[in-house]
Amino acid sequence: MSQQVSPKNVVDNADVQAGCWTTLFGLRKRYASRTAKAAQLTRQEGDAELPSYVHYGHGWYDFNYDKSTIGSFQTEILPEYSEDQGISPEVLQTIQAELKDLSAELRELSLDIWHHPEIMYEEKYAHDRLTKFMTSHGFKVTPHYLGLETAWRAEFTHRPSEKHRNANTGETRVIGVNSEMDALPGIGHACGHNLIAMSGVAVSLAIKAALQKHDMPGTILLLGTPAEEAGGGKITLLERGAYKEMDACIMSHPTAGPDNISGLWQGAALQPIEVEFYGHGAHAGYAPWEAQNALDAAFVAYASISALRQQIKPDCRVHGIIVGREWVPNIIPDYAKLRYMIRAPTYQELDALRERVRACFDAAALATACKIEVAVGAPYYEVRNNQVLGREYARLVSDMYGMRTDRSNGAIYSTDFGNVTYALPALHPAYAIPTEPNGANHTPQFTKSVATQEAHEATLKVAAGLAALGFKVLQDADFTAKVKKSFDEWKAGKGV
Ligand SMILES: [Zn+2]
Ligand SMILES: [Zn+2]
Repeated sequence: MSQQVSPKNVVDNADVQAGCWTTLFGLRKRYASRTAKAAQLTRQEGDAELPSYVHYGHGWYDFNYDKSTIGSFQTEILPEYSEDQGISPEVLQTIQAELKDLSAELRELSLDIWHHPEIMYEEKYAHDRLTKFMTSHGFKVTPHYLGLETAWRAEFTHRPSEKHRNANTGETRVIGVNSEMDALPGIGHACGHNLIAMSGVAVSLAIKAALQKHDMPGTILLLGTPAEEAGGGKITLLERGAYKEMDACIMSHPTAGPDNISGLWQGAALQPIEVEFYGHGAHAGYAPWEAQNALDAAFVAYASISALRQQIKPDCRVHGIIVGREWVPNIIPDYAKLRYMIRAPTYQELDALRERVRACFDAAALATACKIEVAVGAPYYEVRNNQVLGREYARLVSDMYGMRTDRSNGAIYSTDFGNVTYALPALHPAYAIPTEPNGANHTPQFTKSVATQEAHEATLKVAAGLAALGFKVLQDADFTAKVKKSFDEWKAGKGV
């Protein structure tokens, strides 16, 4: 029997969901204490000066430390968005000055969240810390947003003086920003969502400062989005209307790579899938013929998928684990569970691959005479970065910091923000922070890297670029019209 998990059940079935840079399913409370312990172990290093193992200059995709890869690294410098006047140097200065002023406070916020890693839908400490922080900075905060205990919303609107109100059309817009908060079981903030949480705050406060100083109308809507690694928090928020008011939505994500590089990658669509085999237990020596072996079913499925893997395209992934229940060698197991993720470059391709993987599960059930139950979680769509937002972002970070932007599609990562990019114009730049060899996302080494001062500074550069981009969405009606046109054309199948 298979079961389709509806979006409204996402919370109850949260460990069926999953996303982000690699493969971990949420294992929930069982691992909470281990997560806390990992944070304690790494705390010392995180507070220290930049450790000697931290280097710049990784290959972008293989993540091996090798300075020889720097020269061969290719980026695409995007053409300038040519038809507008850009953003005034005064506004850029306001944004950069604000982030400089707030830097110490933002670093404290980021490290505090890093010291309190919480996995999907358990981001209570982060929720309280961030909502208090936004309230203290003049935002109107809604905690526990839309029925999700750890989601939140922070809003700020600036209404300009009479003089400036007359100078524009009177039309106001809403820029959306996202702050992720969740950590990974056992290894803490190994995906740097403490930096993402801080970045969302930084972008929002910098736009606020620019709106106030330059007396421009606009609304900033920052969402605290739980459960990105597993649980698909943004998908639930999207379903419940959290993104409806936004004209565009922006966020960023740290990863390994060369210094001063940002990536606008499509990533991969992702399907979490959970399969349970129910057999019949028996004495393994005395009467094995009475059994239906659920562990065998799991291994037949695992082996079938391993064989299938050789016949799938290199930009697809199928990966998973087997979970038991009180297994001992002298009782034939009557139960086994597989947790898998299927990734493909697009949602359409994911549909086809999902069926091929399903066949492996069904074959295993047939071969072992076990009953099978399949739970298919809500899929994460690939990230469709808005082309106009992307070009302007690339220009801004290039002008401000000489940062290069890469738009190749070599990175196989997934995020529930992909679903947001299907719903409205949105941008999700990845950016490099210094890491140690073989220490990219989802490793304990990356947990240490995201707590360094250098990672903080890289995050603030991208935050400044995104704040300038967000300000432009609010300020420039023509630009925003082009952003929307690009989105509409892509949705209509004309673009991208
Ligand atoms: Zn991740
Ligand atoms: Zn992540």
